[in-house]
Amino acid sequence: MPNAFLDFYSDTKTRPTPAMRAAMMAAEVGDEQKNEDPTVTRLCERVAEMLGQEDAVLLPSGTMCNEIALAVHCRPGDEVICDQSSHIINSEGGGPAALAGVMLKGLNGPRGIFSEADVTAAIRPDSRYMPRSRLLCVEQTSNFGGGSVWPVETVRQVVAAARAGGLSAHLDGARLFNAVVASGVSARDYAENFDSAWIDLTKGLGGPVGAVLAGSRDFIQEAWRLKQRMGGAMRQSGFLAAAGLYALDHHVERLAEDHANARALATGLAQLPGIRLADDRIETNIVFFDVSGAGYSAVDFVTAAKAKGLGAGAFGPTIVRMITHLDVTADDVRRAVEIIASLRR
Ligand SMILES: *Cc1c(COP(=O)(O)O)cnc(C)c1O
Repeated sequence: MPNAFLDFYSDTKTRPTPAMRAAMMAAEVGDEQKNEDPTVTRLCERVAEMLGQEDAVLLPSGTMCNEIALAVHCRPGDEVICDQSSHIINSEGGGPAALAGVMLKGLNGPRGIFSEADVTAAIRPDSRYMPRSRLLCVEQTSNFGGGSVWPVETVRQVVAAARAGGLSAHLDGARLFNAVVASGVSARDYAENFDSAWIDLTKGLGGPVGAVLAGSRDFIQEAWRLKQRMGGAMRQSGFLAAAGLYALDHHVERLAEDHANARALATGLAQLPGIRLADDRIETNIVFFDVSGAGYSAVDFVTAAKAKGLGAGAFGPTIVRMITHLDVTADDVRRAVEIIASLRR
């Protein structure tokens, strides 16, 4: 049966599949806060291994992974180098300032991807007047960069530049597996050079709750203290971990379908008069486009689309974002393009 409402707002809009729900209900569980949940332990060991890190911790969200990592790596007043489009700057409620007390220096990388030279230039000299440059953050894939994939050589170069300046390095891997599937580079090859790295269970992987933050044993011990402090320590969260384990087994390779659907969506949109792709290079599952030529602001476009059964997001005065995921099919993409064609005024 076709979906009644086609929700392309985000890859967070997925619902657990029947098989994922069955895996969740069958999970062996215990008190996670006491390290007594065997399913959580299995998930954390598996993710740590996949990312080439020593240890890992399950957290309620990717946002909490970022916020805890910033607080563990930095002291108040320190400066974090990241892209100006990054989630930590734009989408975490000011958490870096409020929770870790850090300053954020936003670089201007094309499609969210900055260079080794950008990092070297951004690292401040040792001066009592300046904030201390302390941490580099990389977002793989770059969300507001249009789902762009950091080449593994660029990742290695920027991390090396950070290390040369005495900084640590953190990987926001909300959509790391999209990069893995698009490039053929392993998660370990992308993540092992970082001091901390995390994956989201609720984006392309299609899980209902949770994210896993990995790092050294010492880093995770400190992350656990902050998890407890912020109220992120849970109890029988093996139900959630079971969904994550199921997703790692069944929902990684299929991300290629989401990428093909995003390319088909972009191809369909590019043919509509008045719609202009923000970037016609579609590497993963994210498509941004400008609707001003169709006579709409982004907000009005999204409202009009919603009334016709299509979910999309307004990200800028005239820029709309659509994301493909587990719950939208190739046929849904064709229907979405038809709906958008009918919106032109
Ligand atoms: C979604 C997202 C996050 C936050 O993850 P949540 O699980 O929604 O808190 C962080 N970084 C990026 C790049 C994201 O897309």
